[in-house]
Amino acid sequence: LVRLRSRLSRSQNTLGKGLLSLLSREHLDEDTWEEIEDTLLTADVGVAPTQELVERLRTRVKVLGTRTPAELRALLREELLTLVGPGLDRTLHTESPQDQPAVLMVVGVNGTGKTTTTGKLARVLVADGRSVVLGAADTFRAAAADQLQTWGERVGARTVRGPEGGDPASVAFDAVKEGIAEGADVVLIDTAGRLHTKTGLMDELGKVKRVVEKHGPVDEVILVLDATTGQNGLVQARVFAEVVDITGIALTKLDGTAKGGIVVAVQRELGVPVKLIGLGEGPDDLAPFEPEAFVDALIG
Ligand code: GDP
Repeated sequence: LVRLRSRLSRSQNTLGKGLLSLLSREHLDEDTWEEIEDTLLTADVGVAPTQELVERLRTRVKVLGTRTPAELRALLREELLTLVGPGLDRTLHTESPQDQPAVLMVVGVNGTGKTTTTGKLARVLVADGRSVVLGAADTFRAAAADQLQTWGERVGARTVRGPEGGDPASVAFDAVKEGIAEGADVVLIDTAGRLHTKTGLMDELGKVKRVVEKHGPVDEVILVLDATTGQNGLVQARVFAEVVDITGIALTKLDGTAKGGIVVAVQRELGVPVKLIGLGEGPDDLAPFEPEAFVDALIG
């Protein structure tokens, strides 16, 4: 947790610190409130949540009258936490209710960190004593399957792959079949994320899911979103959400941006909780998303 905080705060705490120093000004005039609003918008919190937060802060600061730094800090912490959604169920379902492996599909646009996140997740699970099978259902890029297999070898998970250009759904089907045959605990399926044709993507992801469901239900569909892509990322996220039912979000590259507000924006946009965060390229750089730790890191 300490490591997580330091990793996050390096780029993120500008947001919380900036807000805190603005709130601490002796005179909170209109210009200051506008600056507070700009700070939130710059961090990709989104327009509606920003306005709501500013409204609440204004009211509460007024009620408070004179403010000590500790009071302001506590108030900001509480309001940011409310914004992030402390009560959302962020359980990652890695145990199937049936007597068979849990199946998790990982979807998202190429380059967002899908394969890396799949690899890191496999690592976490294997470290936890679970046996994992990886399905390389991104058959369009040979490099993608190689990359996943490298992760698999690194963390101790077998990778099922098909011929380059082969049918992604059939690789996914085989991976689950293999997982069942081996008595594996979890099957993670890495999918393709070419966005140039929405119908193509829709057909393909939908088919992967349907074919996998012949073995049993899919336990999670995790959408990987690159935190550095801001509003663009949100538009893409929406497209995916139209195609498959997303059950959780993995927000990657939070180590490389001060735009942590995207957590708020994407949860609002999709109505799905952020469950995982990516904090770097290494095997240990994946963490469950914990609202309290996140907000503490923001405030620094
Ligand atoms: P995919 O095309 O969606 O499967 O994306 P990749 O998994 O190949 O990742 C694209 C690039 O992003 C690679 O260079 C990864 O190392 C990098 N990456 C993935 N997750 C993170 C993260 O959380 N932080 C940072 N800094 N880089 C990441």
